[in-house]
Amino acid sequence: MLENTSVRQGLGVETQVVKLCSDQVADFLKYINDLQMTSEPCKVVILPGYQALEGDDDCGFGAYNPEQKTMWVVGDPAGEDIPADEKEDVICETIAHEYIHHIQHVEGRAFDESEAEKQAEDIIARWLVKNRR
Ligand SMILES: [Zn+2]
Repeated sequence: MLENTSVRQGLGVETQVVKLCSDQVADFLKYINDLQMTSEPCKVVILPGYQALEGDDDCGFGAYNPEQKTMWVVGDPAGEDIPADEKEDVICETIAHEYIHHIQHVEGRAFDESEAEKQAEDIIARWLVKNRR
């Protein structure tokens, strides 16, 4: 989670109105919903054109706010180790990671980074198998 998050804006703002998320991300959101891990809704906000979030969370591409039950995910994750064609994967992985924080919150547990990482990887792996990309 983050408090007092400041957001660094990147390029690609012109896509903001037209395209909030790609088909791949939309498919992934549906997949996560279908897992029915909790009945407590979590809002997902994709930030088109944003490359990273600055804050005290070690996950620089997303943040979860427990009061608002909302996750914020950058729409244009940037980094030396992220090829352009893998940005969608990073977005999906970030959504999965923040969603595990949501689960931890609604279950009244403390945020656990290693659990969030591990479970996010599991969710992504199962989703990739299902989609056979
Ligand atoms: Zn985290």
